[in-house]
Amino acid sequence: MKYPAVKNYIGGQFVPGKHKTLDIISPLTGEVISKVPLSGMDDVDAAVKAAKKAFVSWSTIPIKERVQVFYKYKTLLEKNREELAQICQEENGKTLDESYAEVDKSIELTEFACSLPQMVAGEAMEVSNGVECRIENAPLGVVAFIAPFNFPNMVPHWVLPNALALGNTLIMKPSEVVPLSVVRMAELLHDAGLPDGVFNVVNGDREVVEALCDHPGIEAVAFVGSTKVAKIVYQRATSNLKRCVALGGAKNHLIVLPDAHVEMTASNVAASMSGCAGQRCMAASAMVGVGKIDHIIDKLCDEAKKIVAGENLGPVITQGAKERIERYITEAEQQGAKILVDGRNATVAGKEGGYYVGPTIIDHVTKDMAIAKEEVFGPVIAIIRADTLDEALSIENSSNYGNAAAVFTQSGGAAKHVMEHASAGMIGVNIGVPVPREPFSFGGWNESKFGSCDITGKSSIEFWTKLKKITTKWNPEAQVNWMS
Ligand code: NAD
Repeated sequence: MKYPAVKNYIGGQFVPGKHKTLDIISPLTGEVISKVPLSGMDDVDAAVKAAKKAFVSWSTIPIKERVQVFYKYKTLLEKNREELAQICQEENGKTLDESYAEVDKSIELTEFACSLPQMVAGEAMEVSNGVECRIENAPLGVVAFIAPFNFPNMVPHWVLPNALALGNTLIMKPSEVVPLSVVRMAELLHDAGLPDGVFNVVNGDREVVEALCDHPGIEAVAFVGSTKVAKIVYQRATSNLKRCVALGGAKNHLIVLPDAHVEMTASNVAASMSGCAGQRCMAASAMVGVGKIDHIIDKLCDEAKKIVAGENLGPVITQGAKERIERYITEAEQQGAKILVDGRNATVAGKEGGYYVGPTIIDHVTKDMAIAKEEVFGPVIAIIRADTLDEALSIENSSNYGNAAAVFTQSGGAAKHVMEHASAGMIGVNIGVPVPREPFSFGGWNESKFGSCDITGKSSIEFWTKLKKITTKWNPEAQVNWMS
C-alpha cells in the first residue's frame, strides 16, 4: 500500500483503530492505497475526554495568542503545498491543478482565522452613569465536524481554523473515503505548536457520526455532506440539544438569456459543470435557457469537447458513482432528452481501473425528469428550455435545494430580477461558481442547509461562540434603580 494505515489522532497521539477497517481506493486507478479504521463510541469517548482536558487551558489563552499557531500553520501549508495537493489528488481523483486550488483555498481560510481577533474585539458602552455593558464571544467547548469526500483538504478548513482560533477544541470525522489529507493536517497542526487534544480525529462511518451527535460532552456539531445525511445529523444533534449546522446537497441552476456574452457564458458553464468532475456542491447541474440560445449551446458543446478525461478532468469517486451518473444520462435519453455531448463509457489509457465519466451535455430535458430535479454529482449538465425569465425562475424556485443559482446576461435589469427572485443562498451574475470568498460566508438555503448560521466567514463566529454579556458598576455612591 502506498500510504501507511490511517490511525485516529487523539490527545496529540496517533492511535490505531480497535475495530474493523476499510480499504481506501484511489479513483484514479481503482487501486487500494491505504486502509482506514471504522471507529466506535469508545474512540469518540476517548477523543471527547482529550478535547475536554485541552479546552481548560486552550480556551483561556487570549485569542491574539491562539492565532499565532495559525500563522505558523499557514506557513506550513504553503511549504507543504505540493505534497498536500498530491495526497488530495490521489485519494479524491481531482486533477493536480484542482488539488492545488483546494490547498490554496485552505490557506485563505487559515488566513481568515488569523484575522479573527480583529473581528471579535467585542462591544462596550457606558449604558448609564458609571455602569458599563460589555459583550464577549466565548467558546462553546468541545465541538465536532463531519466531512464529505469531495474536498478532502478545503472543507475541513471551513471549520478547523475558525472553530479552534475562537477557543473551542475539535473532533473531526473525515469522510471514510478520503481520510489521508486530514492525517497530514494533524501533523502540521502539531508542528505549528497546537497543544495536544485541541484537534482530534476519529475516523469511521455512520457509527462515529451517531456517537458525535449523541455524546453529552459535545456542544456543537457541524456537518457537510448529502441532504439525506444532513437531515439525520441535524435532527439527531438538535434533539440532543446541541447547536448544529448541517450543509446538504445541491441542484444549482444557471439561467442563460439570449443576450449573454457567448464566450464568457460557454466557458463559465463548461468549467462549472465539469470542475472537480462535477462533484462540487456549487457545480452547475441544470442550465435553464430562456428563448433562443442555440448559439450559446453550440459554443458550450465546443468548450465541453476540450475537457478530456484523464487530462483536464479527473474521475468520479467510486465505480458506484460512475454507474449512478451514467444511469441518469441513459434514463434522460430514454425519456426523450437529446444527448449533445456524451461522456458515458469514458476510459483513460493506462488507467483502465479509474472511474471516469466524460463531460456530458443533455438538451431538451423536461422539468419532471429525475435528471432535472436530483443531484447528479458528475460532469453533466441538463438543459431545460423556458420561454420567459419568470418561467426560468419558477423552475429554479421549484427545486428542493437552494445552494447556488446564477444568471448569464448583459442586462442589469434581468440580472437584478434574478438576484431578487432566485431561491438560493449564493447567487452569481455571469459567474458559474459563485463561491463567496472570505470574509463573506458560505451557506445555502432550503434543503441545502439546516441551521441558522453559515459555516465560514463572519457568520461562523456566531456559530462557534456564545455571547457573554457583562455589566459592571464601580460607583458605590450611585443611586440604585432598575436601570442601573
Ligand atoms: P455523505 O452525506 O454520503 O457523507 C458525508 C458524511 O456523512 C461522511 O463523513 C459519512 O461518513 C457520513 N455518513 C454517510 N452516511 C451516513 C449515515 N447514514 N448516517 C450518518 N453519517 C453518515 O456525502 P458525501 O457523498 O461524502 O459528499 C457528497 C455530498 O456532499 C453531496 O451531496 C454534496 O452536494 C454535499 N456537499 C455539500 C456542500 C455544501 O456546502 N452544501 C459541500 C460539499 C459537499
